[in-house]
Amino acid sequence: MNFSIPVKVNTIIDELMKHGHEAYAVGGCVRDMVLGREPEDWDITTSATPWEVKKIFRRTVDTGIQHGTVTVMSDKDHFEVTTYRLDGVYEDNRHPKEVSFTSSLTEDLKRRDFTINAMAYNEKEGFVDLFGGLEDLNKGIIRCVGSAAERFDEDALRILRAIRFSAQLGFTIEEETQNAIREKTDRLNNISAERIRVELTKLILSDHPDRLRTLYEFGITGVILPEFDRMMETPQKNIHHIFTVGEHTIRTVEEVAGALRDNSFTIAQRTLLRWTMLLHDIEKPATISVGKDGQNHFYGHPEKGAVTAKNILKRLKFDNDTLDTVTHLVRWHDYRYILSPADMRRAAAKIGKDYMELMFEVNRADTIAKNPANTTGELEKLELARRLYREILVKQECVSLKELAVNGKDLIEIGYKPGRELGETLNRLLEAVIENPQLNEKETLLAKARA
Ligand code: ATP
Ligand code: MG
Repeated sequence: MNFSIPVKVNTIIDELMKHGHEAYAVGGCVRDMVLGREPEDWDITTSATPWEVKKIFRRTVDTGIQHGTVTVMSDKDHFEVTTYRLDGVYEDNRHPKEVSFTSSLTEDLKRRDFTINAMAYNEKEGFVDLFGGLEDLNKGIIRCVGSAAERFDEDALRILRAIRFSAQLGFTIEEETQNAIREKTDRLNNISAERIRVELTKLILSDHPDRLRTLYEFGITGVILPEFDRMMETPQKNIHHIFTVGEHTIRTVEEVAGALRDNSFTIAQRTLLRWTMLLHDIEKPATISVGKDGQNHFYGHPEKGAVTAKNILKRLKFDNDTLDTVTHLVRWHDYRYILSPADMRRAAAKIGKDYMELMFEVNRADTIAKNPANTTGELEKLELARRLYREILVKQECVSLKELAVNGKDLIEIGYKPGRELGETLNRLLEAVIENPQLNEKETLLAKARA
């Protein structure tokens, strides 16, 4: 095997070693290097204390000095250099009460979560792999370092990290680790919403978002997203569906925005789209009914779903932009396009131009995950809707008050008073313009407003 670490990382390691310290690349970057993946960042672990590190390098930042982390700057890049440490007693399944520094690399590796994350490497010594991390990497296994039950008691976030890594890497979870997860799920109650959000997002952005099913089977969503369990337990007796709400949902999350390497969407868009799919049918369990035809119906689920989606995203401390966009996409995900130019303008006016491209992708994923016997024509209709919409863009046709050739000020100039009537008039003019785009001229609209 031939591994290489970036020159800048090597230089930092060499410099530390020249001063008589031990130093290695460690953790995720070593794992990713073995897998031939591009590491997100390179972390360095060293026997040097933070104060010693700061003396050796000219440009450093005290990022987390109480945890032993100093950031070393190298041109525009920066690398975290962390002193070998032991984590003290964990009081509440999440924060070690104290951390203490150690001169033993072994101790530092022991505190790490999984064998594949507990390897160190430098060019002089090669791999330091004390827990069989390389073997587990080759076999595709996530396994805790030491006693899994104890490791989850110390920090229950590791439960979610285990599934998240299995989703990112396509790995299976080793049996003892699995059993401990099932036993310790309630410890997740002690984990902050922010940390849960980060892990869930990484999981659904990965190429194996179907590991959502594992979260359910292990009892994890029961603690962190009980609404999902209800979807897994809601059947859909309906000609359009062959899956439970939950299984349909999982398939939509897999489908939307394609594989990671596709790059057809930015990470930000992918995040919005995948969260939208995860939540789009969240109120189907509560709105289920049986019609005279013996079929299940879910009247009002998009409207109710938007409210619930908002509450869930709030609970997970999402930013307002994500909250607004996902909620809006959930609200309109079931909109039935009528395939005429005027009806597509009407759809764009309701849904909003800012959302249409995302909406079409939501619609596509939603359709593909339904009964395949009924979807072929549906996908073609969707393509036609998209084409009609793009023509609206090309022709720059007006679908919002913003694009209307007159505004409130214009109406006031011809004698309108600010207030409800003015608003209603503008809306009526917009409706007329949506019906007939040629009306969108100032004089024409003012004449209409006067009449
Ligand atoms: P990625 O950055 O790709 O998400 P990573 O393995 O680098 O994965 P980080 O969260 O960046 O994960 O952490 C770096 C390393 O720190 C891990 O590889 C692991 O060795 C250790 N680590 C991180 N979080 C924990 C934890 N909760 N418990 C034990 N060790 C941890
Ligand atoms: Mg990392």
